[in-house]
Amino acid sequence: MSEFKIGCHLSSSKGFLAMGKEAVRIGANTFQFFTRNPRGGKAKDLDMADVEAYQVFAKENGLFPMLAHAPYTLNCAAKDAGILEFARNTMCDDLDRLSHFEGAMYNFHPGSHVGQGEEKGIELIAESLNIAMEHAAGTRILLETMAGKGSEVGRSFESLAAIIDRVERKESLGVCLDTCHVYDAGYDIVGDLEGVLEQFDRILGLDRLCAMHLNDSKNPFASHKDRHACIGEGSIPVEAVQRILNHPALMDKPFYLETPQEDNDGYAREIAMLKALRD
Ligand code: FE
Ligand code: FE
Ligand code: ZN
Repeated sequence: MSEFKIGCHLSSSKGFLAMGKEAVRIGANTFQFFTRNPRGGKAKDLDMADVEAYQVFAKENGLFPMLAHAPYTLNCAAKDAGILEFARNTMCDDLDRLSHFEGAMYNFHPGSHVGQGEEKGIELIAESLNIAMEHAAGTRILLETMAGKGSEVGRSFESLAAIIDRVERKESLGVCLDTCHVYDAGYDIVGDLEGVLEQFDRILGLDRLCAMHLNDSKNPFASHKDRHACIGEGSIPVEAVQRILNHPALMDKPFYLETPQEDNDGYAREIAMLKALRD
C-alpha cells in the first residue's frame, strides 16, 4: 500500500519554511504554491536561508516534493510577441529558481490560442517548452488538463499529446490532471472513471500522469466553465472522489486541493475527510 500524498494550495507570501510548516499543521505531506503573483509580475529574490531551512524541515517531516504553479495569466500560445516573450521568460526564471528544490514539479496552463486556431496554439506551446526546457534542470514540467473555456488549449488528451509530441526533452514533461477541469471538459470521471483512465493511458500514458488537482466543479458535466467547488459541494459526488482516491492507477500520485476554502483550517478539514475516504 502506498502512502497517501495529499496537499493543497498554500500562500507563498511567508516563504518556503512557512509553507512546509503550514502543510504539516493541516495534515498535508505536500503542497502547491504560485511561483509569483498569479497575475504575473516579478518574483521576489529567493531567500537562500529560507530555502535551506525548508529543505531540512521537509526532510525531517517526510514531505513529498512540492508542486509549483505558474501564474495562470501566462500565455505560451499568445499571438502578441510581447506577451509570448513575457510568458517564456517567466517560465525560464521560475525554472531557474526551482532548480534549488530536488524533485519539485512545475505545473502550467498550456495557453490560449486567442483565435489563431488550436494547431497554431499547440505549435507555440511546444516551442515555448523547448525554450524553457533549457532551464528545467531536474524539474518536471507538467501540462495541466484544461476545462476548455474560451480558446484554451489542452481540453483534450489529444491536444496535450500533440504538444508533448513536438517537445524534444519529453522525459522532462508530465501531465497534471485536474478533476474539475476534465469533468467540465467532458471526461466522465463520475460515471466512467475506468474509461477515462483507459483513454488517458492510450493517448498520453499513465506514466506521464505526475499529479492530480482534486477539485469539485460548480457546474454540470461538459460545461467548459472551470469553477472549482469544495469536495462534495459540486457536481462530482463524494463516492466518485472516493473511487479516484483509491484507484490502483492513481494511488501513488500526489493529490492537491484547489478548492475555494476560506482559510487553511478549511483545507485541514477537507484533508481529514479525504484521508477517511482513502482505503
Ligand atoms: Fe491550474
Ligand atoms: Fe488546477
Ligand atoms: Zn481551474
